[in-house]
Amino acid sequence: MQHGARSTRRDTYTPAGSRRGLRPQILNPLFAQITTLKGVGPRNAKAFAKLAGERVVDLLWLLPTGVIDRRHAPSVRDAADGEIATLSVRVEDHRPPPAQRAPYRVLCTDDTGVLELVFFNAKSDYLLRVLPVGEWRVVSGKVTHYQGRVQIQHPDHIVPPAERGEVQGVEPVYPLTAGLVLKVVRKALRAALSRTPDLPEWLDPAHRDREGWPVWRDAVEAVHAPLGPADVQPDAPARRRLAYDEMLANQLALALVRRQQTRLKGRAIQGDGHLRARALAALPFELTGSQREAVREVLADMAAPHRMLRLLQGDVGSGKTVVAVQAMLAAVEAGCQAAVMAPTEVLARQHFATIQPMAQAAGVETLLLTGKDSRTARQQAVEKLRTGAAGIAVGTHALFQQSVEFHDLALAVIDEQHRFGVHQRMSLQAKGKGMDVLVMTATPIPRTLLLTSYGDMEATRITEKPAGRQPVDTRTVPLDRISDVVDGVARGMEQGSKVFWVCPLVEESEQTDVSAAEERCAALKERFGGRVGLVHGRMKSAEKARVMAAFHDGGVDVLVATTVIEVGVDVPAATLMVIEHAERFGLAQLHQLRGRIGRGSARSTCVLLYQGPLGETARGRLRIMRETDDGFRIAEEDMRLRGAGEMLGTRQSGFPEFRVADPLAHEDLLPVARDDTELVLHRDPELQGERGKALRVLLYLFERDAAVRYLRSG
Ligand code: ADP
Ligand code: MG
Repeated sequence: MQHGARSTRRDTYTPAGSRRGLRPQILNPLFAQITTLKGVGPRNAKAFAKLAGERVVDLLWLLPTGVIDRRHAPSVRDAADGEIATLSVRVEDHRPPPAQRAPYRVLCTDDTGVLELVFFNAKSDYLLRVLPVGEWRVVSGKVTHYQGRVQIQHPDHIVPPAERGEVQGVEPVYPLTAGLVLKVVRKALRAALSRTPDLPEWLDPAHRDREGWPVWRDAVEAVHAPLGPADVQPDAPARRRLAYDEMLANQLALALVRRQQTRLKGRAIQGDGHLRARALAALPFELTGSQREAVREVLADMAAPHRMLRLLQGDVGSGKTVVAVQAMLAAVEAGCQAAVMAPTEVLARQHFATIQPMAQAAGVETLLLTGKDSRTARQQAVEKLRTGAAGIAVGTHALFQQSVEFHDLALAVIDEQHRFGVHQRMSLQAKGKGMDVLVMTATPIPRTLLLTSYGDMEATRITEKPAGRQPVDTRTVPLDRISDVVDGVARGMEQGSKVFWVCPLVEESEQTDVSAAEERCAALKERFGGRVGLVHGRMKSAEKARVMAAFHDGGVDVLVATTVIEVGVDVPAATLMVIEHAERFGLAQLHQLRGRIGRGSARSTCVLLYQGPLGETARGRLRIMRETDDGFRIAEEDMRLRGAGEMLGTRQSGFPEFRVADPLAHEDLLPVARDDTELVLHRDPELQGERGKALRVLLYLFERDAAVRYLRSG
């Protein structure tokens, strides 16, 4: 896993560049440009920026990944093959290369034997200067035994005996990038450390001492001066302290944002239940226990006087929409309105198709508003929302952006959270006046990440599958048995199933995806003729809709698709899915894809066609897919397989990046940081006391600047 995330990270909670001037003076040296450090200049500034970032503080967060121990100082005779050693030797003779490709050798001795220093492409004047004949030198590097001779190729250090102390120790190893070598990085780090100020303690000293953690400055020093391999592990005390600091900053920022939101006047929305009861009575099924519990939680939150900001998590097909409709009807019962916002027009239409009949059963009018409505339709809709004749509106973000006026909007339901960042969510909320917000997501976010990235949201989970749903039978089949799979498809089709055939994902270009899908489609057509259809991302939406409709209830029984089917396709008759090159898909994506089948009451099968040999991670992914269809478990496993770092690194997902903390390795610190935050804000709500002021410094240090704005100045 690549360390040292680049400095392009932004404070998630504020537009870039806001009120930087308020940063405490004491942090200025850390936020100075990295080029102000000795050893960092115009020539390597770009490489440093790539490796760590552009400011001194970014360099501090570049943590060593290992150590080189140079304390071992044997005599030449005792220097073993393959070990790192530091030797004291006398320079005897220089032997320039006899032939062009041959190395330059410098012969050295001590009382016990001869050590050969070997240099390829050597500059002889340089070597003569650093290794003068007749002088003693301390050399350090990896010893090799070659044809009975003891050698060091390109020693890492060559110094006069007086400087032995600088060489014979334990050196940190940093991740590198092209254009930088360890020595240069270490030198810059030493310069950065010499500028690092003491900062006021923001931890509770009792807590710090209990954990055996150093004070901040010492912790920063210590992480960059490891004494052994244990010191570069995530559980080294200095690392844990810094990780805790970062988690505390994160939790504190999220708590301040949330406090601000709940301080904004909310409304107590409470209906009498008559519309909800009617809608429920009209459903052809009973709510699951999990759905009932979810409804209860959401309604209680709406009834409370603050603003609701709640995440409704549930796998694809877990029945979130029904829960959301209950909440919306409660708003209508209370004499208000509700709106559903979907990320795409297709999804908005699909929501409308599900929601409208349920609301109608309760006698509530539902409207669809997208950017593509005719003028008159739009005018009518806008009028109905303005007067309150329509209780529920479904649409894309057009719903909020354009001049749509609601009679009294009390609840906004947002679908597919992962497409909106924290910032967008907040600006959306600013538009509604005191309205409650319910965010629906099928992305099963592991608890750990939930706490770190959505600490500002409460979460409701739907864990149970609707009754009668059968788990999907998932099998893995090597690609060379594809003809057996096609036979299986033929048998399925005879029994009336519809089949999804998902084509490989090729990272580099969508065009390659498309041609792979076209090829597969052509091959299947040879066998099944016109019963095979194709959809991909490059098609016009009308054309796509036509094929989808034919798959839904027309002559198309096999739908060859690129991953466009990932979101928002509901075809209950689809009971077979083949995913070609399943090893190229991520776990979350496989899970989303598979969620498209197993929606009816018939038994469904998912075939994961893979190309061997499989790497360890790919094998793990396919195994998990076979073992479970619990989205939450899959998400947790995914995180373990990929490492949280990578997961957090996916910027588009909106997860904040951590610099020092590893949400997986430091998972246990999170709840502590959250409780700590709660206690701190309880005792010192505006962070005015001594610890409070130190915590403000912490917020700036980890660039949670925006959160500080929610505090009274102090
Ligand atoms: P989600 O939005 O979580 O993907 P939906 O709300 O769209 O799921 O529900 C998926 C399907 O399951 C819909 O056809 C819905 O009518 C049905 N469904 C929802 N709840 C239940 C239930 N308790 N029992 C049976 N079917 C249900
Ligand atoms: Mg849905």
